[in-house]
Amino acid sequence: MKAVGISGDAGRGLPRASAVVISVGTELVRGEILDTNAAYLSRELAEIGIETVGHVTVGDDSEALAEAVLRAASACEVVIVTGGIGPTPDDITRDAVARAAGVELQRDGAALAHIEGMFASRDRRMSPSNAVQADFPRGASIIANPRGTAAGFRVKVARAEAIVLPGVPVEMKMMWDATVRDYLAAMGAGAAITRTVNCFGSGESDISEAIGDLMQPGQNPLVGDTAEEGIIKIRIRATARTRTQALELIDRTKSQVKARLGDTVFGEDSQTLESVVVGALLERGLSVTVAESCTGGLLAKRITDISGSSGCFTQGIVAYHNDAKVTLLGVAPEILAEHGAVSDQVARAMAEGARVGAGSDFALSTTGIAGPTGGTSLKPVGLVYIALASADGTVSKRLQLRGKRAEVRDRASKHALNLLRLHIMR
Ligand code: AMP
Ligand code: MG
Repeated sequence: MKAVGISGDAGRGLPRASAVVISVGTELVRGEILDTNAAYLSRELAEIGIETVGHVTVGDDSEALAEAVLRAASACEVVIVTGGIGPTPDDITRDAVARAAGVELQRDGAALAHIEGMFASRDRRMSPSNAVQADFPRGASIIANPRGTAAGFRVKVARAEAIVLPGVPVEMKMMWDATVRDYLAAMGAGAAITRTVNCFGSGESDISEAIGDLMQPGQNPLVGDTAEEGIIKIRIRATARTRTQALELIDRTKSQVKARLGDTVFGEDSQTLESVVVGALLERGLSVTVAESCTGGLLAKRITDISGSSGCFTQGIVAYHNDAKVTLLGVAPEILAEHGAVSDQVARAMAEGARVGAGSDFALSTTGIAGPTGGTSLKPVGLVYIALASADGTVSKRLQLRGKRAEVRDRASKHALNLLRLHIMR
């Protein structure tokens, strides 16, 4: 088959534009909030063939920002600035970018009317300070903001195209999708796209054994992995002349990766264990209930994080004390006395009692020692039993988890979801 990609770096030989992303806000510089805009924009720019060569974070300081914009504009073709275009005195971005462009700010009548209209539609009076949001550097093109009062703009600074967008991530993303991406795509060359295959239940070493040959450096697509909170993500990055070709390359490699990793693969891209489990239950018209001890409601929280989960999640019981396991779940006191709360027998009894009580198709249970206190030599911290009760009977699993309390609880809830996933998918 003829290769559609360009081996190695797809940008080689192509007139590829580069970009610097500038994030504005004192809260960012102080580390009070994380800069997610720069990460998002860099990924998006790569998909249209524009390489991000730097991220800059500047506080709400007009002079410092003007300098940063000028420096970036002399180093690359695209400068994207997010943040600082609100109506308050600390919103200095329009002023700074006008300075960098060497032009004055000018009030735009249509933009002002739009802001007034937005206030009127919400039955609010526009305060005079909002009028500054209709000021743009002379010669700038306005980028409409369907969600808020802060319109963005683009203007030439030195030889670069400077694009200014709001800091609020949803507004920034909507404007990127609606106008900016298509506008900039013409400046890019080639496409670099990353997709992920998400795995749970195997270690990184098992994975590199199964797909190590695909992970060799210098290939296109380039395959790598990241491990985060028990989830291993296989990242497949393809570069090609067009987006379609890059996606074709990814699909081929993705099929190989999935075939080799089998049922440790639970989903792709933004899919989570809970989203996949809820999706599978809804699709089949099946219901689940949970009986939790060591996870204290985390399992129920994960399931109900997913919109639409009311269609499959009946109820959850947090039975922390032994008495609660008896009264709420019908666990026999003798089982608790003989085996202890953290035992295979109790996990099974919890799931079975919960299933009968809720009248659901499935019940998941967790019982364990999350730590840091409470461990013994026979039952150390991190020992967790999970169980799944269904019409087919009950299955359980003994886990010896590592890490701090939060990690033990996190992994226990993920293992429980995975137990259900494997049962439904088999
Ligand atoms: P601003 O446009 O500067 O008024 O920012 C409005 C809000 O958007 C801030 O208070 C932050 O919560 C959020 N925000 C601004 N910049 C970023 C960024 N780079 N990453 C994530 N959130 C941001
Ligand atoms: Mg700000």
